[in-house]
Amino acid sequence: MKKTILASLIGASLAITGCSEQVPSQTTETASVNESAAASAEMAVENPFFQASTLQYQAPDFRVINDDHFLPAFERGMQEHMAEVEAIANNPEAPTFENTIIVMERSGELLTRVSRVFYNLTGTDSNEQRREIQSELAPKNAAHSDNINLNAELFERIKTIYEQRESLGLNSEQQRLVEVYHQRFVRAGALLTESQKDEIRALNEEHSNLTNQFAQNLLAETRNIAVVVDDVEELDGLSPAQIRSAANAAADRDMEGKYLLSITNTTRQPILTSLNNRELRQRVWEASANRAQSGEFDNTGISARLAQIRAQRAALLGYDSWADYNLEPQMAEKPEAVFEMLGSMLPAVVANTKAEQAAIQEMIEKKGGDFEVKPWDWEYYAEFVRQELYDLDESEVREYFEFNRVLHDGVFYLMNRFYGITFEPRPDLPTYHEDVEVYEVFDADGTSLAIFYADYFAREGKRGGAWMSSFVGQSHLLDTKPVVVNVMNIPKGPEGEPTLVSYDHVTTIFHELGHGIHGMFSNVTYPTLAGTSVSRDFVEFPSTFEEDWAAHPEVIANYAKHYETGEPIPEELLERVIRSRSFNQGFDTLEYISASLLDMEWHSLTADDELQDVNEFEAAALAKYGVDLEAVPPRYKTTFFSHSMGGGYSASYYAYMWSEILAADAFAYVQSQGGLTRENGNHYRRNILEVGNSRPTMESYIEFRGQEPTTDALLIRRGLKLNVE
Ligand SMILES: [Zn+2]
Repeated sequence: MKKTILASLIGASLAITGCSEQVPSQTTETASVNESAAASAEMAVENPFFQASTLQYQAPDFRVINDDHFLPAFERGMQEHMAEVEAIANNPEAPTFENTIIVMERSGELLTRVSRVFYNLTGTDSNEQRREIQSELAPKNAAHSDNINLNAELFERIKTIYEQRESLGLNSEQQRLVEVYHQRFVRAGALLTESQKDEIRALNEEHSNLTNQFAQNLLAETRNIAVVVDDVEELDGLSPAQIRSAANAAADRDMEGKYLLSITNTTRQPILTSLNNRELRQRVWEASANRAQSGEFDNTGISARLAQIRAQRAALLGYDSWADYNLEPQMAEKPEAVFEMLGSMLPAVVANTKAEQAAIQEMIEKKGGDFEVKPWDWEYYAEFVRQELYDLDESEVREYFEFNRVLHDGVFYLMNRFYGITFEPRPDLPTYHEDVEVYEVFDADGTSLAIFYADYFAREGKRGGAWMSSFVGQSHLLDTKPVVVNVMNIPKGPEGEPTLVSYDHVTTIFHELGHGIHGMFSNVTYPTLAGTSVSRDFVEFPSTFEEDWAAHPEVIANYAKHYETGEPIPEELLERVIRSRSFNQGFDTLEYISASLLDMEWHSLTADDELQDVNEFEAAALAKYGVDLEAVPPRYKTTFFSHSMGGGYSASYYAYMWSEILAADAFAYVQSQGGLTRENGNHYRRNILEVGNSRPTMESYIEFRGQEPTTDALLIRRGLKLNVE
C-alpha cells in the first residue's frame, strides 16, 4: 500500500507500481485508426482490442474480452507502434512540434489499449494463463522501449525542437512536453558517444544481473533464516491460529512436531509484539537484522558493487552521483533538498523517539524486567503502553465504520462538499468481476467527467495492497476522458451481513480516491502530461491529502454511525481512535528516516570512491546523522533493502515522506483558509489536480499555497511537534 514506482519510458511501458498506478501503461496514445489496423478490419471483429471500445469513454468491453486476445493484440500493437515511430524518425521533412512530438503523442494506440486492460487484470484478477503471458511479455516490452529510446534519428529530431523551443511559439504546456521528451532521451543516454553507450550497456547488464541476484539471494535467505522452535511453550503469547500456522509451516518443510516462524521484509518483525519469551524474540530479531550479511546468500558484496555501478553510470551521463541523476526529474531536484528535508525533522523525531523509549523502559520495569530496552523488546512493551494509553477494542470501533456508509456518506460526501462532484451508479457498464461497481462522475454543473470502477474487496487472484490505475487516460488532443479504477483488499463481510472496516481501511479508501480524482480531474492536452504522471515524490501528495478529511468533524459525523442503531460514534471513542494513530510515531518516523538517509548516502558516492565495506559504511552513515540508536534500527538494512538496492527506489526512498509533507502542509493551509468549502476545493483542484505534469510541480504547489512547503504540519500530523515544544 501507498507505494509508487514511476519509471517512465517513452512510447513503451510507463511501469508504475504500488498504490498510485500499478500497471505498465502507455504514455502515448492515438485516436486515429492507422492503415495497418484498417487493412485487417475483419480481424477486429474477432479481437476486441483492434478497435477502440464503443462503450462510453472507451471503457473496456469486458463482455467480449478473453485471455486469448492479449498476445495477438500486444504483438500487433508493438509492430504498429514501431512502424509509427520509424515513420516519425525517417520523415524527410524538417522536424516540427507537429510532425514529431504530436505524432509521438498519438502513436501506440493499440498497444496502450491492450496494456492498460491486461496489466490491470494481472493485478486484480490474475490466473495461470495471465501470469504466463506476463512472463512472455516482460523481455518484449523492455526491448520495445529500448528500440524507441535508442533511436538516434528520433532523438535528433527531438533535440532540434528542444533547442528551438523558445522561438516556436509554443504555449507553456507544449514547451513542458518538449522538455519532458528531451529529458527522457538524454537520461537514457542519447547524448553519449558510441563507446560510452557500450560502457553504459555493459554496466546496465551487470546491474541487471546483480539486482536479480540480490533479489534471489534475499528470497532464499529469508526462507533459510526462518526460526525453528522445538517447544510450543516457547510460543507463549501467540494466538492458537498463529501457532497452528507455525506448525503447518514446519510440517511443510519436513519438520513435523516443530514450529517455524517466518521472517517478514522489514527489520522489525510484527510477531515481536506478542512473543512473551524474550530469548526467542532476540533470535527472531537477529535472524531478521543480520539477513544476507554472510554465508551462501550474502548480499554485502553485491550491494557495494551496485552502489558503485550506479555512481559510474551517473558519471558517464554527466552527473556527480546517482542521487544527482535520479533526483533531477523529481520535485526535490537535488540531493541537498532531500538531506535538508530529512535533517530538519530529525530533532523533533529523535526527541519523540527518546520519550517513547523512556515510556517503554518504564513499562519494562513495571513488568518486573531488569534490563535495558533492546530492539527485540520495543514493540512488545510498546503494545502494553498502547493498551494503557488508549485501551482500544478494534471490533467495537469497526461497528461504526460500515463499508457502504464510509463510501457513500464519507468519501463521496466529501467529494461533493469539497469539489461539487457526484457519483451515479452505472450498472449497465460491464466489469471484469462481479464485486466491481461502476460509477459515472458528474461535475457540479452536471457535465460528465469520468467513469470510475470501485473494486474494494479482497479475493483470490488479486495482488495485495491498494492502488489506483486507469483504463483510459485524459487528453484533449485525443479527445479522451478518464476511465479510472480504485483497488483495495477489504475482507468482505459474511454473506448477508454488512462489511465493517477498520479506521485504517477508512483512510485508505479516502487515499485511493485521492489518486482517483487526480486522474479524473486531469485537464491537459497531451497524454504524457496527464493526471498522475507526475514525479515519484509528488504522486502520493493528492492521495495523502484526502486521507486527512476522513477525520474532519463534518465529514466523520456524516458517516461514522453504528451499523445497527445508526448512533454516531461516541466522541470519546473517536478521540481515542484518532489519538492512537500518533502512537509510536517517533519510532516509525525515525526508522523510516534512517533508511532514507542510508539510501541517500549509498547513492551519493562518486565514481571515484572505492568499493565500500557494507557494515562499516552503514554504521558510519547512521552515526553521521545521529540516528544510530541501538533500539531503533533503520527500517531496512542494506543487505535486504530491496527498494534501494533492488533498484526501483534507489535514491528515492525519501519520496513517501516528501509527498506526505506536501499533503500535511496543504491540508493545514486549507484549514486556515476556511476548511471544507467549495472555494478551497476548486482552488486546490485547479492548481494541483487538473494540471498533472503540465508544469513543474513546485510551481504548481506555490501557485496553490503561496509559498514552498515546510515540515511543520507533517510533524503535527504525526503527533511529533507538540511533544517537543
Ligand atoms: Zn497512494
